[in-house]
Amino acid sequence: MIDQFERLPGIGPRTAQRLALHLLRQPEEQVRVFADALLAARSQVGQCRSCFHLSAEAECEICRDQERGNGQICVVADSRDLLAMERTREYKGRYHVLGGVISPMDGIGPESLQIQPLVERVDRENASEVILALTPSVEGDTTSLYLARLLKPFTTVTRIAYGLPVGSELEYADQVTLARAFEGRRRME
Ligand code: ZN
Repeated sequence: MIDQFERLPGIGPRTAQRLALHLLRQPEEQVRVFADALLAARSQVGQCRSCFHLSAEAECEICRDQERGNGQICVVADSRDLLAMERTREYKGRYHVLGGVISPMDGIGPESLQIQPLVERVDRENASEVILALTPSVEGDTTSLYLARLLKPFTTVTRIAYGLPVGSELEYADQVTLARAFEGRRRME
């Protein structure tokens, strides 16, 4: 059990031991509920058919929420970045999860990402604004420029401002910094 916990991101040997000992002290029923939750999540959670965020339903909670259909689509690299944006409570529109960023070095081209579905969505939903919220790195910038060129004929494309430190992961930006970066978004030329 300790070995298994140690495989998780951010868990060192001491934390792994602490978690294992904690579980051993729990009633068996409680441990069963925990184990069932892990298995259920693994087998039931897939991708939202519309935005590609993690979802146990065909469409995720955000896409099903009518109030969030305000014409804005915020583009993020992955679900962790989406959750970071949600924590700011600043954004009220919908998302689109690309599944990564363009990185020729790693063999990731536009066709490996959910870019075509994004273009179709922008057209179909008549989106008023696409907000690019990708990590400020060479790959993130390349992807933003690529998307801006592709989407500008259809909609307004903006990009979150960089109060964010260059090269920093969006996921780890504190809520205030990320909320400010969102407010200060600029139209892409
Ligand atoms: Zn969705």
